[in-house]
Amino acid sequence: MSTTHQTDNRSDLIEVINPRTGEVIDTVISHSEAETQEAFDRARRAQRTWAKRSVAERAKIIMRMHDVVLANQAEILDTIQLETGKNRASAFDEVLDVAINARYYAKKAPKLLRPQHVKGALPVLTKTIVQHAPKGVVGIISPWNYPLTLTLSDAIPALIAGNAVVLKPDSQTPLTALAGAQIAREAGLPEDLYQVITGPGAVVGETIANHADFLMFTGSTETGRKLGAIAGERLIGFSAELGGKNPMIITADANIDVAVRTTIAGCFSNTGQLCISIERIYVHEDVAAQYVDKLVAAVENLTIGGGGWEENIGSMISATQADNVMALVDDAVAQGAKKLTGGRRPDLGSAFIAPIVLVDVPEAARLYREEVFGPVVYIETFSSEAEVIERANDSEYGLNAAVCAGHNRWQIAAQLEVGTVNINEGFAAAFGSIDAPMGGWKASGTGRRHSDAGLLKYTEPRTIAEQRVLPISGPKNLPRETYAAVMTNLLRLGKRFL
Ligand code: NAD
Repeated sequence: MSTTHQTDNRSDLIEVINPRTGEVIDTVISHSEAETQEAFDRARRAQRTWAKRSVAERAKIIMRMHDVVLANQAEILDTIQLETGKNRASAFDEVLDVAINARYYAKKAPKLLRPQHVKGALPVLTKTIVQHAPKGVVGIISPWNYPLTLTLSDAIPALIAGNAVVLKPDSQTPLTALAGAQIAREAGLPEDLYQVITGPGAVVGETIANHADFLMFTGSTETGRKLGAIAGERLIGFSAELGGKNPMIITADANIDVAVRTTIAGCFSNTGQLCISIERIYVHEDVAAQYVDKLVAAVENLTIGGGGWEENIGSMISATQADNVMALVDDAVAQGAKKLTGGRRPDLGSAFIAPIVLVDVPEAARLYREEVFGPVVYIETFSSEAEVIERANDSEYGLNAAVCAGHNRWQIAAQLEVGTVNINEGFAAAFGSIDAPMGGWKASGTGRRHSDAGLLKYTEPRTIAEQRVLPISGPKNLPRETYAAVMTNLLRLGKRFL
């Protein structure tokens, strides 16, 4: 699979950096507003032809993406790791996610996009169907933390629904996004149908928001609000997957070994740079000491750096992001928080941080409520379930939560104000349940990915209703008062029998 990209004779280039070494590994073009608009013109032409192809034909190409991504995984993993610094196992999660999405939507789309017969205004006399037409050109703006998943996996349902996609990746991870476009092409997707346009958010991103027929955004809540305002002004559909400050609850009857395992995966996968990552833990006071001891030992056993399959923790996306994370930790420590383990690992490179576990974090510390987006978690204790549910819900965010508990696990889960709850798991059980909607409550977003909703949001429903035999207002000469009496009786009968 070749992933070369044209940068000849251009001076407006963006340098891509390997965060593990700080070295420049490649350059990509910083596209202009006019070039982004041209991408839309090409996409619109390609979309018209694509929408005429049957859903089965489109699904076949998407299913081939499943095969291409699996067949080329070694090369793709290398690219992801090169520009993100993440560990290989977390990079593999991205490959897995694309394959699962391709398979799921390739199988599900023909049924979802088939015209649906629904109940008409009058039984038998009104025949009503609902069609799902593509929106046109979908704009996708994606972040750097999962550069394959949050580009290709979000494009798959849009494409299969008959849309074209113009996508802007984050400027720190354009190579994976371009490799994703290459996967799509190898699978047989027409070139202009899925275009990756590299460049700054304020130029390429805003132009996409100003031209798309639907906008799919993943990133910070701050940028999400700006893009939501543009979408609102333009009256286009908008789906946003934003930040989180995700809680985990460990009750007195939880299996502590499961809780420790869940904490490690839930907090430190992808070096904690994960919107659904756990950042605050509430453990019952009766088991807190046992849990904390086991957790600290397990955290200190994690392997950091190296890059291979055995590496548990990779680097952060950049030295700057590592600095941002450490600034939040230092602020908490300066205000009285206690660091049980972890911290900077300059021996490995300035983008590496060993996972940090904090206790006694005061409410005034910034990270008490703000998202860290790094390998940092704090622990608090609780004594009653009602109290811990209230504390877990006391956040502007509502993305994900985890519950490690015995008897009341489902009851606790059902009271959390979040889009996904994982029982005895950190995030993967719900995120991997692709037949279920995934997204955030409150400031964590709007709209959903995965499930029927993740595809149907990229369509415009068209309701077609045919009136047969009799007009909907009854026979021509029927007096209005009689019509009203007949309708009243029909409604009463309908309430009983329909
Ligand atoms: P970000 O909002 O800074 O950037 C995301 C994307 O938006 C990038 O491609 C960026 O170039 C672009 N962008 C920035 N400003 C823009 C503008 N004015 N107009 C148009 N585009 C613009 O976020 P980030 O720092 O890259 O990502 C981290 C954040 O993303 C975290 O808050 C994290 O929780 C969130 N995130 C959420 C999910 C989710 O599914 N909920 C997944 C991953 C990341």
